[in-house]
Amino acid sequence: MSTTATPSRTEFSAYQTLGYAAQDAQSPVAPFTFERRALRPDDVKMDILYTGVCHSDLHQARNDWHGTTYPIVPGHEIVGRVIAVGPDVTKFKEGDLAAVGCLVDSCQDCPSCERGLEQYCENMATQTYNGQDRVTGEPTYGGYSESIVVKESFVLHVPANLDPKAVAPLLCAGITTYSPLMHWKVQAGQKVGVIGLGGLGHMGVKFAHALGAKVVVITTSPGKEEDARRLGADEVLISKDAEAMTAHARSFDFLLNTIPVGHDINPYLNLLKLDGTIVIVGTLNPLKGEVEALPLIVGRRSLSGSGIGGLPETQEMLDFCGEHNIVSDIEVIDMQNINEAYDRMIKSDVKYRFVIDMASLKKDAGAK
Ligand code: NAP
Ligand code: ZN
Repeated sequence: MSTTATPSRTEFSAYQTLGYAAQDAQSPVAPFTFERRALRPDDVKMDILYTGVCHSDLHQARNDWHGTTYPIVPGHEIVGRVIAVGPDVTKFKEGDLAAVGCLVDSCQDCPSCERGLEQYCENMATQTYNGQDRVTGEPTYGGYSESIVVKESFVLHVPANLDPKAVAPLLCAGITTYSPLMHWKVQAGQKVGVIGLGGLGHMGVKFAHALGAKVVVITTSPGKEEDARRLGADEVLISKDAEAMTAHARSFDFLLNTIPVGHDINPYLNLLKLDGTIVIVGTLNPLKGEVEALPLIVGRRSLSGSGIGGLPETQEMLDFCGEHNIVSDIEVIDMQNINEAYDRMIKSDVKYRFVIDMASLKKDAGAK
């Protein structure tokens, strides 16, 4: 038998890896060993260094959106170090710092994919977790784990001047706020409101400020005022203060709504000026109550939504962050503290993104 074939390197084989998973909607996220696939020719394999904790992780772990397949390994804000590449990979090499966001594949053939808008793939993009591999149909498992194998075209380059742990949240919170600001052409001099100062919201403030907009944080938490100003806000509006809301009526060009649960949107519609737009990026659940048509009609206002961002725009956002020295404000946690982090997130007690130091997973190595 010939021995000239490429030797089988362990880096290329399927392997067991340790992660954290929820086994059902009620149980805490806990250690879970599972298999990662053997490298395909166009795959990149990364050791995960840091993973951001998105509110979507919590929604999906607890089946808030009714579409979770268990076990689920959350995590779609991933920064890691490349440890192996398939033979067809051209843009990454061993040792590179690299990142993965919310998507790991799409059909790459439909009109959306052709425009680099993979998040709107007409054949449903493959989510980094709670998705199905397009080749084998196996579940995809996310970044709460030691390592990951991802198709090269869904892996991103990390600007060298940025702190890798503070880059992780850019992969979802960053792109989800950058993309609508770009799409609606937010620019210097406009008045922009960011509703909800959490993981997404604080990135929205940084981006809108960098674009030269006058930024107003619209919050339920008066205690966040000082932080809001430090992050780049010019003003803070407490959404429960009806008088203050009235004072800001008909004044905003653009509102970025990051509220994570169903809510009454009518008070926010009235904040928009003629031709203003409010974009929902927060809740995937229905809004509460009826959306009033009158404010839309009398102010020619728009109510819209936006989902994460495509691969080209995600790289553009990372490069923008590199140029403007923008990263997330983070609190680094160990993997073992994830359930406490979820509880704090529900109480809006995050400043402003938890990031898991994946080295902490080693403490669970005995559970393997
Ligand atoms: P987060 O860090 O928990 O921040 C959400 C913020 O919203 C809170 O800090 C709080 O800010 C405000 N808030 C919370 N509950 C509220 C309520 N009942 N009424 C009004 N405001 C409330 O969450 P995140 O990670 O930024 O995610 C926000 C939402 O975006 C989640 O639902 C997530 O699933 C979704 N998401 C969507 C996309 C997309 O593609 N569209 C991508 C990523 C995430 P204040 O204290 O300032 O009021
Ligand atoms: Zn997310």
